[in-house]
Amino acid sequence: MIIAVDGPSASGKGTLARRLAQHYGLRHLDTGALYRMVGLAVLLSGGDPADEAAALAAARTIDLSLLEHPELRSEVTGGAASKVAAQPAVRAALLQFQRDFANENGGAVLDGRDIGTVVCPEASVKLFVIARADVRARRRHAELTRYGVEVSYETVLADIEARDARDMNRAVAPLKPAPDALLLDTSDLDIDAAVQQALSLVDSRLAELKLGSRAVRNRP
Ligand code: C5P
Repeated sequence: MIIAVDGPSASGKGTLARRLAQHYGLRHLDTGALYRMVGLAVLLSGGDPADEAAALAAARTIDLSLLEHPELRSEVTGGAASKVAAQPAVRAALLQFQRDFANENGGAVLDGRDIGTVVCPEASVKLFVIARADVRARRRHAELTRYGVEVSYETVLADIEARDARDMNRAVAPLKPAPDALLLDTSDLDIDAAVQQALSLVDSRLAELKLGSRAVRNRP
């Protein structure tokens, strides 16, 4: 069973993906962290994330110790991630790892931008998680403040809008719902309410799939 959870930044998709993985006993991959590691590696080496050669070299020699780096979750790294992520060669270099992870040990939950459309178009369930940009900026701002980062709400909102535009308008694997994705708007939901809605969407999709396979088996 593969569950794809896509959506823009701070929509709640990461938390939902983790909670779905716990609930269904599946492994979880945060694919944004892969692009973040590549973007951060380029920044740390003094390179330009928009430079294809530098980004591709970082993607081919991904440094897993960066998962623990204090800057991995920063907005600067998020911006660099979205620049390396717009490059087809970087996406190609990271694709097989994601597909292998999804297909090992009976499935997984993957969250990102293109899981339902490109990485796992065969996923049993696809969720597309959205929330208004102002709500997402408020969540991200609160999170950064908790980590002691001093940044204004306006700056966070501008960063989120710039990243959305880059992710939705890039030529390769843009952020968009798969035709068979189930939409979940978390703008007015707290985490527990969003998790409950996600679980009921996934359960009803799984029930439909079961009914569908029974109908095929019973066909004369
Ligand atoms: O989800 P997160 O904000 O950590 O992702 C960082 C950036 O990585 C995104 O803005 C996006 O550009 C890129 N990304 C992507 N495809 C994915 C996951 C993330 O392009 N599957």
